[in-house]
Amino acid sequence: MVDWLKEATARQDDLLKDLISILEIPSERDIEHATADQPLGPGPAKALAQMLAIAERDGFVTKNVENVAGRVQYGAGQEIFGLLGHMDVVPAGPGWQTNPYQPVIKDGNLIARGSSDDKGPAMAAYYALKIIKELGLPVAKQIHYIFGTDEESEWVGIDRYLEVEPTPDFGFSPDAEFPIINGEKGIASFKLTFAPGLTTTGATSLCRFSSGIRANMVPQTATAIVKGHDLDQLGTALTNFAAENDLVADAEIQDEQVILTLTGKGAHAQEPRDGVNAGTYLALFLSQQTLDEAGQQYVNTISNWLHLDSRGKKLGIAHHDELMGELTASPDIFTYTAGQHNSVLINVRYPQGTDAERIRQQIATTIAAANVTCQIDGHAQEPHYVSGDDPLVKTLLAVYERQTGLPGHEQVIGGGTYGRILERGVAFGAQFPGQPNVMHQANEFMPIADIIKATAIYAEAIYELVRP
Ligand code: ZN
Ligand code: ZN
Repeated sequence: MVDWLKEATARQDDLLKDLISILEIPSERDIEHATADQPLGPGPAKALAQMLAIAERDGFVTKNVENVAGRVQYGAGQEIFGLLGHMDVVPAGPGWQTNPYQPVIKDGNLIARGSSDDKGPAMAAYYALKIIKELGLPVAKQIHYIFGTDEESEWVGIDRYLEVEPTPDFGFSPDAEFPIINGEKGIASFKLTFAPGLTTTGATSLCRFSSGIRANMVPQTATAIVKGHDLDQLGTALTNFAAENDLVADAEIQDEQVILTLTGKGAHAQEPRDGVNAGTYLALFLSQQTLDEAGQQYVNTISNWLHLDSRGKKLGIAHHDELMGELTASPDIFTYTAGQHNSVLINVRYPQGTDAERIRQQIATTIAAANVTCQIDGHAQEPHYVSGDDPLVKTLLAVYERQTGLPGHEQVIGGGTYGRILERGVAFGAQFPGQPNVMHQANEFMPIADIIKATAIYAEAIYELVRP
């Protein structure tokens, strides 16, 4: 019997040294500095090269796929077991107390951008594989540890990898939380487009309306430019409206127009209730004024069907599934300029039992205006689920329970991980229950003890999945 935790602990110093060497590389997507050789910029390619160099040093066979993805391989057999990690990070952003790319250890925590998403967990899974190799344990399958370098944006790396390299038969991504993520909702964005044609002049008229920066984020701020009379009063009314609804208002009069701004709270679109959508609140406020015909239709549509409708009930798309839970809807990007084609982008996370085309039709039916159309924006991702009866899920949960003494259970999320690229793919660790989720935040950290515990769990789990 292998004492997995003892094996992981014995390698702690080496693991931290290797991990820090990767955390020191700022590997955010950096297209501005892209070259033919480094299509995602220098950082992601450098972090990938460093990871592959570590594996080569340890005697693994590696492959670099065009500097956008890579593989560390081990073992032989018919089936391919896949591990799926990523070497890119989200931008550091403001609010750090230390240099995000100079890792610091404080109170047992390793603090750096990427420590918990995903370089720390990815290195834990790498050391798990290294333990299996160094102990000379029997392996009856091919193990392909695949590293992407664009997981936080467009998945360019992993998509290219799957085009030119074999897809594993089953596997997991160490890029979420324990006990397991074996289901992910479908993700699709819908664009409402308002064709020009309605009157844009009135005593008070809407010139511009804008809110939201990303399709997957609840907008924190919203701005509208209105022209007409009694602009002072409009500013005062907005201040009162904001106070009643826990938002912050600003009104700035310039000549014959007023710039109205509302600030709410940003959040991940997978749970719109965690945020306060500044866009729909500003539309609600404006819908209570008398505007020009086109402006009025725009703000009324938002306030009638999109405001405080995180479950899509008003929009007519509500759907619930026993296993995957409720559909969520988050209107995240608003663009309006008087007289132009204007739009609202709605991000929807949907459980099994409905689909993107059906949702599109339902939205179109609900809004039912001759000049408004609804289209699926970009590529819709289907819901993904691996049954709790699948030996992959059973094995991972059994190892987790054995090593932690904690109950294992299935979990479905509204986010998207690399787990979904394999039909039999899940996400497994490395955030433990009770730990705060600090991914994408300033001062991101991972407890060193958790990195070591995860390494031990991964080692036993991988071994159980590939042994003869
Ligand atoms: Zn990640
Ligand atoms: Zn991430």
